[in-house]
Amino acid sequence: MRRRVVEPTSNQEQLTVPRRLQAEVEVVIVADSVVEHADQIVKRAWQDLGPEHRALLESIGATQWHVTNKLLGAAASALLISAGSPALSASQTRAFDAAIGVWVPELRVTLINAEHRKFDGLDEPSLEAAVADVAWHEWGHALSVHRTENDDISKGAQLLTIAPRGIAENIRSGGYRRREITHELVANLFALLMARRRAGGDGKPEWLEDELWNLMKKTTG
Ligand SMILES: [Zn+2]
Repeated sequence: MRRRVVEPTSNQEQLTVPRRLQAEVEVVIVADSVVEHADQIVKRAWQDLGPEHRALLESIGATQWHVTNKLLGAAASALLISAGSPALSASQTRAFDAAIGVWVPELRVTLINAEHRKFDGLDEPSLEAAVADVAWHEWGHALSVHRTENDDISKGAQLLTIAPRGIAENIRSGGYRRREITHELVANLFALLMARRRAGGDGKPEWLEDELWNLMKKTTG
């Protein structure tokens, strides 16, 4: 089991740490810095949202995130229990455990698993882009959950037919239920539009259908 390291108080103590414990100490330090590093990336992603998006997220209480090296099922259940809510069901736990990030509406918090295998082996620019993508995606979910209307939700399958091909394929292969499709579209498009904005793009992209652009303006500002 991993635990936090207490700094040795003298060289003498450092020298007497058994080899087996030294190995554990290295693992813990790496794990902590991975979480801290991902947290810094999320902070930059939050800054890059700009004042309007941040204000929208603030208005729905969605400003908190928690980067962890735990599976997200366990992390979410621990937070839910400490907030006096029931833990996740077994099937929710399995789904959360597989996730790289989740938006937990009950707690209004975004959780990100900094040690998810999808982050393994990425170089620095790719990691920056991948972690920011997860954060923007989950903030997109938060906005979608609060700002889409029933009509938008029931049009999910139809909206998917006019979505950019990569996003549509992604969502189709994800096995989402009908009423989750619009939320997934908003979350995916929000992350994509934020990445585009970070790279200097602005306004409606040529490749985005009007109906989807209008949905994004309505839900994410
Ligand atoms: Zn999603």
